[in-house]
Amino acid sequence: MLEAQNIMYLPGVGPKKADVLGKEIQVFSWEDMLYYFPYKYIDRSKIFKIREIDGNMPYIQLKGKIRKYETIGEGRARRITGQFYDETGSIELVWFKGLKSIPNMYKIGEEYVLFGKPAVFGGKINVAHPELEKESSVLTQQIGMQGQYSTTEKMRDVFLNSLALRKLVALIFKNYQGTIPETLNATIISKAKLIDLDTALRNIHFPQTPALLRDAEYRLKFEELFYVQLNILRVTKYREQRLGGLIFNQIGEYFNNFYKQNLPFELTNAQKRVIKEIRQDVCTGRQMNRLLQGDVGSGKTLVALMCMLMALDNGYQAALMAPTEILATQHFETIKELLFGLDIDVRLLTGSTKKKDRNVLLPDVQSGKVQILIGTHALIEDNVSFANLGLVVIDEQHRFGVAQRARLWKKNAIPPHVLVMTATPIPRTLAMTLYGDLDVSVIDELPPGRKPIKTIHMYSGKRFNLYESVRKQLKEGRQVYIVYPLIEESEKSDLKNLTEGFEHTKEIFPEYEVCMVHGKMKPAEKDAEMQKFISGDAQIMVATTVIEVGVNVPNASVMVVESAERFGLSQLHQLRGRVGRGADQSFCILLTHYELSEVTRKRLSIMTETNDGFIIAEEDLKLRGPGDIDGTQQSGVAFDLKIANLAKDGQILSLARDLAKEVLEDDPALQKSENTILEQQLKKLNQGKSGWFMIS
Ligand code: ADP
Ligand code: MG
Repeated sequence: MLEAQNIMYLPGVGPKKADVLGKEIQVFSWEDMLYYFPYKYIDRSKIFKIREIDGNMPYIQLKGKIRKYETIGEGRARRITGQFYDETGSIELVWFKGLKSIPNMYKIGEEYVLFGKPAVFGGKINVAHPELEKESSVLTQQIGMQGQYSTTEKMRDVFLNSLALRKLVALIFKNYQGTIPETLNATIISKAKLIDLDTALRNIHFPQTPALLRDAEYRLKFEELFYVQLNILRVTKYREQRLGGLIFNQIGEYFNNFYKQNLPFELTNAQKRVIKEIRQDVCTGRQMNRLLQGDVGSGKTLVALMCMLMALDNGYQAALMAPTEILATQHFETIKELLFGLDIDVRLLTGSTKKKDRNVLLPDVQSGKVQILIGTHALIEDNVSFANLGLVVIDEQHRFGVAQRARLWKKNAIPPHVLVMTATPIPRTLAMTLYGDLDVSVIDELPPGRKPIKTIHMYSGKRFNLYESVRKQLKEGRQVYIVYPLIEESEKSDLKNLTEGFEHTKEIFPEYEVCMVHGKMKPAEKDAEMQKFISGDAQIMVATTVIEVGVNVPNASVMVVESAERFGLSQLHQLRGRVGRGADQSFCILLTHYELSEVTRKRLSIMTETNDGFIIAEEDLKLRGPGDIDGTQQSGVAFDLKIANLAKDGQILSLARDLAKEVLEDDPALQKSENTILEQQLKKLNQGKSGWFMIS
């Protein structure tokens, strides 16, 4: 068995290298090694002549011999050089490590195929740490595509470079008797049109043809995503079987009266579609667990409210939970206004609700008199008990963990339906992987008449021009946000920047009121400052990203972001969403230094080019990789996909998900004999080092 074969006993490995392989790339067995895939392939069908190369070329191949070695330099610059030549010229090879062993490894006068990246040093072309292979061993390659393996410095110190890894893999294939056993059953293989595992593994390392390489990649990506989905969906199935759901089959007066009398505008098509999806969900007799995604300003609150009215129409209570007191209060006020005249009992419960008021409120919640309760974490405290809670809406879910969601369930014999709203658009592929246990609805349309926010990138050296435009907006009665990078425990300089910025702003705009908000303030102090801005008493708010989530001041039309290079794309987009909520033209100004990395420039140009949160989220995923996306850290999913790429393999993921669903619908416990292989593989993956299967 491949997984039982210790990598240490592979000829040429031994304890020292095995130790490095384990520590650096978690390769312990032959199997681990076979699942350590090349990260790219290089065309090795072409062999250059020395005369043809220059210092700007990527990795290239040469064929030639070494003339002589020389050890030169002192200390860290100590190195060994060799002259490598063919019939058209010669170049220098350089090694900074393994000086003693190099001349023994590569003999003078023998013919080698060299692989490396030419560079110019002191006006001459050289190749540092080239890979050299005897010509005969290179020719066993059947085509030019050669896999490159990523290595770390510690690995290279013990001569485990890409070439060495490729040789280890070849050796495993040579020593392994027979065919590598399948990990998927025949039905799946045929439905997904996959090649067999043995062929896939051999071709991912040593592609025989470009087509086979593509098939191999497809097969291995599919398999990886299939098992992630099978795992998540099995957990979901289990929950569904265990947790029945309340049935809301009435659409009654609350909903209809609101729709006919109070709805201040036409719903967007996206809002209608999502309400329909939710309506179907709450009639199935299974508990709803749904993620409602919609860009800032897309009108999620209204959708949430209409769903709460469905609960009321069926005799249930509804709750809306927000991450901060300010947001809870805003929701409370918005919703009360929307429900004006409909005789619905809506109340607010937060950490600062007075004891006296609580003493009235809590019994009313328990008796069922309160129909909609809006609040913060206070809603899930133990002393809050509902008569018959039917729906919980959680706004801006990143602040609430899965554990807290679970706490809500405990309060009922039958758990309430849960609708989680988020304004951080998570690309669909990521959402499926992350929140496999949630269904996803998307509001992908903004209400009509919104003016897109104008986003401008500006160098901070030119900020004085900016102040004049800002003053113009202020004169027209608008309000302005000025945002500084996050204040972290360790970052004293951030606090200094912020307070200096605050003082500076007051000097520049003496005729206006400026308030300041940051994460290190006491909640009461913070709320008081925020309130100044919401009420319009302050026209300028200097803040850190604490304002990122949800604050709604439609009169604010300018967002200035200081040191914008320090913010991620999603974060910038969230910040920008604080403006553009009214009818006026809004602006977002991103201030940066002159020197910017390429990735930062790309981020800024995406921001100035689009307002579409989904495009931004996709780009963010591409630029940063899924592990860094907001929210994934908290979800407990360590991303360790070996070959699939969530930013690119959305289609494979959908197929994998569909097939995993089919399997479980037919055989929920994976008991049928043809599914034994799936059950075993899941078990193995869950036990294995690959912690990423441990979702939920
Ligand atoms: P978010 O999705 O960011 O929570 P909100 O629910 O706060 O968005 O809605 C943003 C604004 O758009 C609110 O003022 C809301 O009243 C308004 N709105 C919501 N739906 C519509 C619609 N269909 N037509 C016009 N305005 C709408
Ligand atoms: Mg909102």
